[in-house]
Amino acid sequence: MRRRFHERNLGIEGRRMSGELPLPAMTDVRVRFAPSPTGPLHMGGVRTALYNKLFAMAHGGTFILRIEDTDQGRFVEGAEAYIEEALAWCGLTPDEGVRSGGDCGPYRQSERTSLYRDAIAQLLERGWAYEAFDTPDELDALRKAAEPEVWQYDASTRGTLKNSLTLGAEEVAALKAQGAPCVVRFKTPETATDIQLVDAIRGEVTFQSNILDDKVLMKADGLPTYHLANVVDDHHMRISHVIRGEEWLPSAPLHVLLYRAFGWEHPVFAHLPLILKPTGNGKLSKRDGDAGGFPVFPIDWHDPTSGDTWPGYREQGYTPEAFVNMLLMLGWNPGDERELFSLQEAAQTFSLDRVVKSGARFNPDKAHWFQAQHLRGAGPQAHVMPLQAVMASRGVNWDQAQCLAVLDMMLERVTFLTDIANTSWLVAAPAQFDAKLVRKKWKDDTSRLLKDLASELQRLDIFSSDAVEACFTAFLEARELGFGQVLLPFRIALTGEGGGPSMFDFSAFLGQEATLSRLADGLAAIEAIRSQTEGS
Ligand code: GLU
Repeated sequence: MRRRFHERNLGIEGRRMSGELPLPAMTDVRVRFAPSPTGPLHMGGVRTALYNKLFAMAHGGTFILRIEDTDQGRFVEGAEAYIEEALAWCGLTPDEGVRSGGDCGPYRQSERTSLYRDAIAQLLERGWAYEAFDTPDELDALRKAAEPEVWQYDASTRGTLKNSLTLGAEEVAALKAQGAPCVVRFKTPETATDIQLVDAIRGEVTFQSNILDDKVLMKADGLPTYHLANVVDDHHMRISHVIRGEEWLPSAPLHVLLYRAFGWEHPVFAHLPLILKPTGNGKLSKRDGDAGGFPVFPIDWHDPTSGDTWPGYREQGYTPEAFVNMLLMLGWNPGDERELFSLQEAAQTFSLDRVVKSGARFNPDKAHWFQAQHLRGAGPQAHVMPLQAVMASRGVNWDQAQCLAVLDMMLERVTFLTDIANTSWLVAAPAQFDAKLVRKKWKDDTSRLLKDLASELQRLDIFSSDAVEACFTAFLEARELGFGQVLLPFRIALTGEGGGPSMFDFSAFLGQEATLSRLADGLAAIEAIRSQTEGS
């Protein structure tokens, strides 16, 4: 059931209860993230994984990754590997799962089919399920005939349909012997009752049982549907809390009834709010990312069917810490002004009662902000190797000392490491000079002053940032000049631009020879610009 959740249509009422929620004691917390490998993981899915992981960390519990791959028609090649890789990049490694192992495996539903068959046998035996032989065409005809009313297979209609409740045992056996397709449906209780559950985020939620249909639990191919497999696995994997997206809230009453039918206690449910488009209107989709120029996937996704590549945060240059922090704040807050968290820090404060009920609006600018904060917060040393790799991919071989020097200068000024790689004057002498700036800042004696400065710089034995600064200051003092008169032209000559890091640091990074040759070449180019201007 992948219908959008409409509170009114489904007769669901939710209200947050005041005071303490009657949740079970937090002993042996076991949570799971249960994606279907039907495509890449949307950032909403990563947030679900994150909240599960944090909840487990906060309670010393276990985070499980279960692959829900029973819908063979929607299976997508590479999706499971993508999910594993994306979670690993985000640092959301499961404690139990296909790769991590664990004693509740197998962790792929397609490898657990005997469990589901046993479960179905139990339900049939207890009268909580029945076999149905109606063909898809027959059911379609009934739906069409009922339009504009919505027809459903439920307590009010099943008595008139082709199933083991209406047919005799012999007829059922004969149909099976003929190989007639047969599904198993849940037998929703006839009497209308309220199904209540306490959602850890929404509080008490009430559903009316008479609006539920008799969902298929096992398909004609013998494979379980989501509902059956999900409930059976949550039970066998001893899941204590089901933390999942709001789109699954309409399935919760059926799940509660299934637990009752099996005689099992159900886990605590917590349904997370949707992630909304930047406009706030509707759920964030991959098309929004395309239109708004931001990724909605954690890492690049190469669609094996269309051949298209959808961009990911990783490839756009985000650090996993920034991406995860941004997701953390999409629907949760610590109750104070703090916004910057590592995973460990978040786990110390995370609780489900601070997850918001209403949709969380995604803001691409805020994503940038988190990235800049994390890049700076980690300090220059942390980025030496990654920067070296980025530069090497552009054919620039900086050693670690050079990377560190650049990071020291530039970290406060950039959002992504690629911003450094894109700053061309860091790598090569400027090919262009801001002509407007040159005209504004150059006086007749500016070039001569810079040439005199170059002679002083040439005399330096040690070309450190401090030494260049001291030389510069002495030069200005001797001529009774202000900083601005020389420093900005010096910057323009070296970089072609009017803004950037400390020019003393930058000179030291370039070294004496390169600084002097850039200065000489820059001055020549600037003189050419000035003479053109004068001539024109
Ligand atoms: N397989 C479902 C999904 O793809 C899991 C929903 C749940 O967590 O119960 O989201």
